Amino acid sequence: MKQNKTPKVAYFCMEYGLSKNLPIYAGGLGILAGDYLKAAKDLNVPIIGVGILWRQDYTTQLIGQDNYPHDHYQNYDFSGIIQDTNVTVKCRVRGTEVTCKVWKVDMFGNNPLYLLDAGFPGSEHSWITTRLYGGSEQDRIAQEIILGVGGIRALRALNLDVDVYHFNEGHAVFAGLELIREKMAAGMSFREAWEATRKEVVFTTHTPVEAGNEVHNCGLLMHMEANNGLSYEQLTELGGNPFNMTIAALRLACKANAVSQAHEKTAQKMWQHIDNAAQIIAITNGVHLSTWQNQEIKQAYEQNKDLASVHQKLKKKLLDYIAKQNKVELKPDILTIGFARRAAAYKRGGLIFKRLDLLEPLFKTNKLQLIYSGKAHPNDHQGKNIIQQIVEISKRYPNHVVFLEDYDMDIARLMVQGCDVWLNNPLRPMEASGTSGMKAALNGVLNVSVLDGWVGEAITHQESGWILDEIIGEPLENWDQDEYDLQAFYHVLFKEIIPIYYEDKTRWIRMMKASIKMGEELLSSERMIREYYSELYNYAFELKKENLLVKGLS
Ligand SMILES: *Cc1c(COP(=O)(O)O)cnc(C)c1O
Repeated sequence: MKQNKTPKVAYFCMEYGLSKNLPIYAGGLGILAGDYLKAAKDLNVPIIGVGILWRQDYTTQLIGQDNYPHDHYQNYDFSGIIQDTNVTVKCRVRGTEVTCKVWKVDMFGNNPLYLLDAGFPGSEHSWITTRLYGGSEQDRIAQEIILGVGGIRALRALNLDVDVYHFNEGHAVFAGLELIREKMAAGMSFREAWEATRKEVVFTTHTPVEAGNEVHNCGLLMHMEANNGLSYEQLTELGGNPFNMTIAALRLACKANAVSQAHEKTAQKMWQHIDNAAQIIAITNGVHLSTWQNQEIKQAYEQNKDLASVHQKLKKKLLDYIAKQNKVELKPDILTIGFARRAAAYKRGGLIFKRLDLLEPLFKTNKLQLIYSGKAHPNDHQGKNIIQQIVEISKRYPNHVVFLEDYDMDIARLMVQGCDVWLNNPLRPMEASGTSGMKAALNGVLNVSVLDGWVGEAITHQESGWILDEIIGEPLENWDQDEYDLQAFYHVLFKEIIPIYYEDKTRWIRMMKASIKMGEELLSSERMIREYYSELYNYAFELKKENLLVKGLS
């Protein structure tokens, strides 16, 4: 398709992971959104972000005397980071009018991020935007009204011209209801307004299983006034009853994407029974190169210089941080495996500890050390128990197992640059993409991973990493994934990772280079944004233009 104009895009997301001094993210979704805005600036494309100013972040999660993670909340001071636009917007939430201030984050010049805030001094509704993913179901719906309805109103109040609205995850779906309401207010019928709205909305789905999709009863949505003027029947038509945020987004978008090729298949199968849903294609997530890839590694790689010594330097930096933080001395010449993610059960953070009998001799002979980090959702006790278990193990093997508390972007950066190997063992098909391994790959930190998310489309087994599914071969039906992966992991650890690391440095360096090459070519946010334009934004933009043409003729 030939474009004479680059469409202007407004990107809606509940969280953004941009920097330490703006903690308004929980995990991968937010990091993706932050990296996306940074890459948009690099590419100089007209994209703006819309989100929420979470006054107390997600959680500061510290390990207590009981080895259990405990949540702490503090009020952050954002002065100097956000600018007042002097714009306010109003939305209705459960019988009252809520006023939000609109702040602007100006880190990216032409690609500002606008943040809605109900927590300014004097507000009676600060509860809505206090904690990301905090509170009850009603709190969540209120947050989503602010993001969606408030977000569109903010764009209007700021007088910003937008061609395409991108809903990143179903959280933003009420923005679609506001786009419909606007058109109905201008005289269209519900059906006309819905159809016209579809031509300007695209959607990214991240959920790999049906149970992970957010649903709310239509009655509750009416009570919360999330319907935004639509009737109960109209709501039901969009999202079903209970109202499924993902299904509604699929019916409000002209095209949607899954976040890896494997996830595309999963998502297509999951929603094939849904009528009137947008086509789902694959656009694999990416990470922002200069945020995550160490510059010296990049240079050593490009100039074919000593990659190993730069890597050792980064490893020392990580070990120094651990020495300061945890008061334990790990050794720079021992093979180091890292694992850092949200402590959700499906990520199986504790999996390899099921074979302590195999790990213990490796610790005793100084062949292996392990570095863990991650936060659990404040209400996820199962996830917190996994952290507690790992902390307990770290106390049993203090010189070989470390847990770093309060996982954030800075810890992530240290780890994906300083470990030797990056472990990824989620339950399939639960990891829609998984971006921490991309960051590791870019730094020559070798992935050892199950075949899920982006892994199968990028890693070549035994060349740019290891894929556990290629160790044992086809699993049996009704396989026990824990057993299968434990066998495969220990096989590859004993037969390949340890021997190559200690005895074949040349091969190791060759794999590091293959990994960096793969990362730069396939796993960047820049590549992702180009695909968003070619597959989604330009597509929507063309539909919308055709529509204008038809209207102009009639
Ligand atoms: C990259 C990143 C994530 C996402 O990692 P996954 O591999 O998708 O689990 C989460 N949190 C932080 C702080 C990150 O930097």
